[in-house]
Amino acid sequence: MNNIFQRHCHSNLPIAVKGDGIYLYDKLGKAYLDASGGAAVSCLGHSHPDVRAALHRQIDQLAYAHTGFFNTDNALELAEKLTQAAPGNLNHVYFVSGGSEAIESALKLARQYFVEKGESQRTQFVSRKQSYHGNTLGALAVGGNELRRAPFAPLLMPTEHISACFAYHNKLESESYFDYGQRTANELETRLLEMGPDTVIAFIAEPVVGATAGAVTAEEGYFKRIREICDQYGVLLILDEVMCGMGRTGTLFAHEQEDIHADIVTIAKGLGAGYQPIGAMIATSEIHNTISQGSGFFQHGHTYMGHATAMAGSLAVLNAFEKEALLPRVQEAGDILQTRLSERFTDHPFVGDIRGRGLFRAVELIADKDTKRPFSTASNLHTQIKERAMDLGLICYPMSGTIDGKNGHHILLAPPFIISNTQ
Ligand code: PLP
Repeated sequence: MNNIFQRHCHSNLPIAVKGDGIYLYDKLGKAYLDASGGAAVSCLGHSHPDVRAALHRQIDQLAYAHTGFFNTDNALELAEKLTQAAPGNLNHVYFVSGGSEAIESALKLARQYFVEKGESQRTQFVSRKQSYHGNTLGALAVGGNELRRAPFAPLLMPTEHISACFAYHNKLESESYFDYGQRTANELETRLLEMGPDTVIAFIAEPVVGATAGAVTAEEGYFKRIREICDQYGVLLILDEVMCGMGRTGTLFAHEQEDIHADIVTIAKGLGAGYQPIGAMIATSEIHNTISQGSGFFQHGHTYMGHATAMAGSLAVLNAFEKEALLPRVQEAGDILQTRLSERFTDHPFVGDIRGRGLFRAVELIADKDTKRPFSTASNLHTQIKERAMDLGLICYPMSGTIDGKNGHHILLAPPFIISNTQ
C-alpha cells in the first residue's frame, strides 16, 4: 500500500536507501549514477564526510531555534561568506527553505521596497518566456512555462513575459549573436514603455535558464543591456540563480560571468547540496537600508527560515567548495562533458543542440534537424527517457518545455562537482 500523494500518481518508484559519492542505491541494491544531482541539487554527491559531520555536530547541539528569537553563529558566518563572494552591493541575506520561497521573498521584498520609497504605483513584474521560477503562486506567475501555468492561470498575478535570449531557436541567420542578444534585451525597453515604466517593480530572469529551456546561456552583452534598461527606468533586476548558482556554472554566482550587478539574487539547490532544504535571497544595501530606515520590518517570514541545521550543512558545503578547489574543477569537468557529448551526439538525427556552461549542460531533442521541429509532448518522450535511463542505472533530468508556443524536449545534466573524468 502506498499512501504517498506522488507527483505522478501512477509511478512505481524504487525505494532509495543509500547515497555514496555520485551514486544512489535502491532497496534492491541497484546503483544509479546521479548525473543530474536530482534536479541540479546534489553538487557534492551523496555522502560528503565534512557535511555529514557538520550536520551531526549541529543536531547534537541544537537542531532548531526560531529566527524571531535567535540568530546562530553558523547563519552569521554563512551570510558573511555569501555576501563577501557576491558581486556588487549584495550585502544582506534572507534565509529560507527552498527556491520558491526565495522567489516569493524576492518578489515581496521588491514590492515593499518601492512602497517604502513612496512609489506604491509600482505593481507589476516583467519576466521571460521559457523561464521557471518555482511552483508557488507568485513564482508561477513570473514563470514562463506555459504547461505549468495553464491550470492555475486565473489565479496568477498579471505578469508580462518577454522573449528569452535563446539563439538556437530565435536568432535570425542575418544577424550576429551580439546583435541578436541586444535585440532581445531591447524587448524589455519596448515592453516597459508600453506598460508605463513607473508601474513596474522588477525584471526577473535566470542568468542560465534551467528546467524550462535546458541550460540556455544568454549572448554576450545581453545582461549588460538589461541592466542598463533597468537602471534607466528605475526597475529592479532580480536574478534567479536557484538552479544555475552556487558554483554550477564554474563561478559561485552565475552572473559573475555576465559582469553585471543585481539588486536581488535568489539561490537554493546547490547551497545545501541536498543535505538540508535551504534557499536564500540576497539583497543590496540600498534595498535593505530603505526598509531598515523605513518601517524597519520586512513583512514576510517562514517558520523554518534560517534553520540551524540547514545553516550548519550549507556552511560545510561552501567550505568544501574552497577546500577542494571545486569551482575551477567545475569549469574543467564541464568542458570535458561538453566535448564528450558533442563527439557522441552531434550527428545524432534527433539531437538539435548541445549546450551549457560548467557542469550545467543540456542536450536538446528535435524531431527534424533542419526545421528544428520539436517532438510533441503527447509523445511523453521525457518520461520515457527518464524511465529508460533509470533502467540502465542513470539519473538524468529530461524535461519538456515550450518554445514559443511549441513543445520541446531536452535532457539536463548537472552532475556532482566531485565527478571524475572517467565517471
Ligand atoms: N527557480 C529556478 C530557476 C528553479 O530551477 C527552481 C526549481 O527548479 C525554482 C526556482 C524553485 O525551487 P524549489 O523547487 O526549491 O521551490
